[in-house]
Amino acid sequence: MNCMFDYSPAKNLLENKTILVTGAGDGIGRAAAKSFASHGATVILLGRTTEKLEQVYDEIESEGGPQPAIYPLNLEGAVAKDYDDMAAALEKEFGKLDGLLHNAGVLGPITPIAHYDPEHWFRAMQVNVNAEFLLTQSVISLLEDVNDASIIFTSSSVGRKGRAHWGAYAVSKFATEGLMQVLADELENTSNIRVNSINPGATRTNMRAAAYPAENPATLRKPEDIMGTYLYLMGADSISSTGQQFDAQPMA
Ligand code: NDP
Repeated sequence: MNCMFDYSPAKNLLENKTILVTGAGDGIGRAAAKSFASHGATVILLGRTTEKLEQVYDEIESEGGPQPAIYPLNLEGAVAKDYDDMAAALEKEFGKLDGLLHNAGVLGPITPIAHYDPEHWFRAMQVNVNAEFLLTQSVISLLEDVNDASIIFTSSSVGRKGRAHWGAYAVSKFATEGLMQVLADELENTSNIRVNSINPGATRTNMRAAAYPAENPATLRKPEDIMGTYLYLMGADSISSTGQQFDAQPMA
């Protein structure tokens, strides 16, 4: 499996790039947004909890990064028009988009398929897959306009090999891998957009704690520790990589 855990990026790797990060208010998305900004990118922070996005905005500013932007959006209820409005706002404000990190996700219940509540199933599929489709569709022309654009999808170990009780979460991550592969194949010879997926691996966040309540979080890597592959795939060093699955950290 591809893994750039030890990647050493140039400090100005993402200078002059505009990058949209979903789920940027917490966990891995927060770390990715801050990491992209600290390597020179203007980041657009998309998420559902405005206060969290404001906090990340303030942290980026106080650390001297380029001024970010906030775009509050609840991916659960958003429809195609919401994404088109967002794309129009991005075009007006920034004139371009160089990168898109699909990171937002929900876990849903850990329970057998036989007992899985359909409402929870639809919610997980909406946030984890359908939103990725709608968002990608709305910004693809912006990404096509730049020389070297990158789309990263966020997968999971259970999106590469199914596991009992992981339900819609696992299925949504398989679908995410499928979306990544179909899109990468479509864009490979027709655009300058590369498309890849990252499995973060066990990482110290609220989602991980919800999935493994008995685990000691101190035994896990923090989101900031796994940014090598994210930076690699956003920056020009990965220009020839598309349709590939990456791990963000060495797997046990
Ligand atoms: P967190 O739960 O810590 O963060 C998820 C982020 O997604 C939050 O910022 C959350 O917003 C946002 N989000 C959730 N639902 C919506 C919604 N309806 N609309 C907009 N934003 C939403 O999770 P992680 O950081 O752990 O996970 C990030 C990604 O990595 C996910 O795709 C997850 O599946 C994947 N992953 C994580 C692993 C881990 O060990 N942590 C392992 C494998 C994969 P808010 O802050 O408002 O709740």
